[in-house]
Amino acid sequence: MGTLPTPRCLLCGGGRDGALDICSECLRYGERPWVHAVSACAFRGSVREAVHRLKYQGGTAMVPVLGAAMAADWRRHGRGEPEVIVPVPLYWTRQWGRGYNQAELLACYVGSELGLPCERLLRRRRRTAQQAMLNMDARRTNVRGVFAPAPGAKIAGRRVLLVDDVMTTGATLGEAARALGDAAVAAVSVLTAARG
Ligand SMILES: [Zn+2]
Repeated sequence: MGTLPTPRCLLCGGGRDGALDICSECLRYGERPWVHAVSACAFRGSVREAVHRLKYQGGTAMVPVLGAAMAADWRRHGRGEPEVIVPVPLYWTRQWGRGYNQAELLACYVGSELGLPCERLLRRRRRTAQQAMLNMDARRTNVRGVFAPAPGAKIAGRRVLLVDDVMTTGATLGEAARALGDAAVAAVSVLTAARG
């Protein structure tokens, strides 16, 4: 599985599209509530197929395929020395319907590769519409305030690596990072399998 070329955008881990360290989409989006992001692959071709299988066809065999690319890419490009890996949570009804949270499977795989604990420090307060159906502004509104600390979660002062399957606009990851920030996290980095 071919990973993205370097140099990468510092804010989303995707490809650069100009002379700046930041891609044009991140410039348009504005501030990101994390220090650094790495995305292993572009969201197209076999990667898109693997993510689709993982999310919608029970394809958990895709976890080591995507997870190995993520761990390898983090070793090459990651910064900030995170001490705990945190998956972006699904709402419980969606997780129950799917039987698993694909972000959590990836996070645990990456955690075992990198020798870091994987902890469910966040919960999702409500079910949201599928982000894929919405434009950038609607995506932001859709997920605003949707994440909160999980009961008993120890977040304050810790360096967190937030993991999800795909970053498209970054709205969901941004809300998750904000919820960690509200709970006095020391630093948030982001790792995704693919940049949409
Ligand atoms: Zn970017």
